[in-house]
Amino acid sequence: MTPKSMSERMSVIVIDMLNDFVTGALKCERAQRIIPNLKKLIEAARAYGVPVIYCNDAHYPFDFEVVNRWGEHAIKGTKGAEVIPELKPTDKDLVVEKRVYSCFYETGLDPLLRSLYNGEGVKTVILGGLHTNICVRHTAADAFFRGYKIIVAKDGVESFTQEDHEEGLKYLEKIYNAKIMTVDEIIEMFAKSRGQS
Ligand code: ZN
Repeated sequence: MTPKSMSERMSVIVIDMLNDFVTGALKCERAQRIIPNLKKLIEAARAYGVPVIYCNDAHYPFDFEVVNRWGEHAIKGTKGAEVIPELKPTDKDLVVEKRVYSCFYETGLDPLLRSLYNGEGVKTVILGGLHTNICVRHTAADAFFRGYKIIVAKDGVESFTQEDHEEGLKYLEKIYNAKIMTVDEIIEMFAKSRGQS
């Protein structure tokens, strides 16, 4: 197989699909809608050899964000900080712990992305999970600052309200030039890029 071209070096990043964000301390009813879509996306990525990286809140109770904004959620080592049962990572998936909104901020995500594809590095990150206007947005900012292209799975991200979700998508497109695609369109892209290699 020839080396993958830049546009084909993708990774799926699944953000905060944790018990506390879906059914627990920061329960979000609207998250239910995206679970089957993300399941489909993650399974397709695994099948096409696209790395799947789970980026999960793993807080200490005294973290700034916990104390100053959201209260206790996703405390490291608790059930609330585990990925929801429907989307459990497999041994082949990668997991990065974070302690603020962005998946990049003082985590090992950037060096991890740069080490994938035999050291050629990921070029495009595909974002899914919670919330469109918070952790997805801040992760997109840090991805943009570091020179990654961004795709957002529009039926694979959610927010507490429709307004927050829609505004979040608009912002991602406008400010980070994120491509807003459905999970089905992304899977079609996986199939096409495999066809070319
Ligand atoms: Zn948090």
